[in-house]
Amino acid sequence: MFGRVPKKSDNTKFYEVLGVPKSASQDELKKAYKKAAIKNHPDKGGDPEKFKELAHAYEVLSDPEKREIYDQYGEDALKEGMGGGGSSHNPFDIFESFFGGGAFGGGGSSRGRRQKRGEDVVHALKVSLEELYNGTTKKLSLSRNAICSKCKGKGSKSGASSRCYGCQGTGMKITTRQIGLGMIQQMQHVCPECRGSGEMISDRDRCPECKGNKVTQEKKVLEVQIEKGMRDGQKITFEGQADEAPDTITGDIVFVLEQKKHPKFDRRFGDDLYVDHNLSLTEALCGFQFALTHLDGRQLLIKSNPGEVVKPGQYKAINDEGMPHHQRPFMKGKLVIQFHVIFPESGVFSPEQCRKIESVLPMRPSKHLTDMELDDCEETTLHDVSAEEVKRRKEQRQHRHREAYDEDDDDDESAPRVQCAQQ
Ligand SMILES: [Zn+2]
Ligand SMILES: [Zn+2]
Repeated sequence: MFGRVPKKSDNTKFYEVLGVPKSASQDELKKAYKKAAIKNHPDKGGDPEKFKELAHAYEVLSDPEKREIYDQYGEDALKEGMGGGGSSHNPFDIFESFFGGGAFGGGGSSRGRRQKRGEDVVHALKVSLEELYNGTTKKLSLSRNAICSKCKGKGSKSGASSRCYGCQGTGMKITTRQIGLGMIQQMQHVCPECRGSGEMISDRDRCPECKGNKVTQEKKVLEVQIEKGMRDGQKITFEGQADEAPDTITGDIVFVLEQKKHPKFDRRFGDDLYVDHNLSLTEALCGFQFALTHLDGRQLLIKSNPGEVVKPGQYKAINDEGMPHHQRPFMKGKLVIQFHVIFPESGVFSPEQCRKIESVLPMRPSKHLTDMELDDCEETTLHDVSAEEVKRRKEQRQHRHREAYDEDDDDDESAPRVQCAQQ
């Protein structure tokens, strides 16, 4: 289709690794990965390479967007789409995100420490449709906690900290007080001296940079790449860029794209762009041409075909002028134009002009009424009814019908029986 014919083996390997058919559901994928990952986990003597392979296959196939690309174009297309580097997630992280870290019941892992994971920070990022069409880079300045560079997060100059006197290192303090005769209330609260850390740094030893807090505020500028064709709601993740804390795996900063409404174009059904255009009656009947400014500033010449009549509400499309497809921006959706026909106001045509118009328009379908036939008719007057009024009348009618139905429920039930008997 575009110069590269995918080899057959290109887009079946991941399924084979997990031992599922290509038609496997998300649920089946999950089950297959779970079973194989436990069996091949290096902590249980499994082969680390196989474990890695499983995690990678599952990572791709469990993401519908990645799976679609893989199914169609194979693994290489995935690498290209990821900006060259491909995704090289830690297979243990994938395993743990699946089992919440407690796959083997307790922390008896050969990997030793189990760090807690810091929270992800999620920001909404407003983008225009132009930015999603053309792609752009946004520089955002954020402040976050970073491990103090001076003390490397220890909080003290020497690196030594002693056990907190206040809580004996537990971080919690229990106070008791007598609340009545022979009654004692026990209360547990976070130790105020060490603020729950259980350790104490003497004033003299305290790190001058972070004042013993172990972290300092840091300003950070992130460059967010808005790639062509990205969509509303899509996430851009900066792994491990959220607030740092000692003994904690730093969480991610996640930007969620929020597309601002565009005054002219509307993105629908994936990558199609919809635009409204008003035609005068003359243009609708006799042809039109106009310039449409696209989201990248190009002027598209839009014109009717010779002899073409455009009807009110009619859609027409131009291929490959819609939104670029994310990760395959050389493919684009359709640009769909809906035409609206603006009719002239009443009274603008003189009887003379009407006759001229009628002479070129198709013949009237109805025959002329004879005088005798006219005598048999009753005179009426037409007046305008707005679309809103029609809607309101319909709603009123339905409301009244529902009320009536509720009142005589029993009658309605007996009615069909009578009819049957009569037949
Ligand atoms: Zn410090
Ligand atoms: Zn304490």
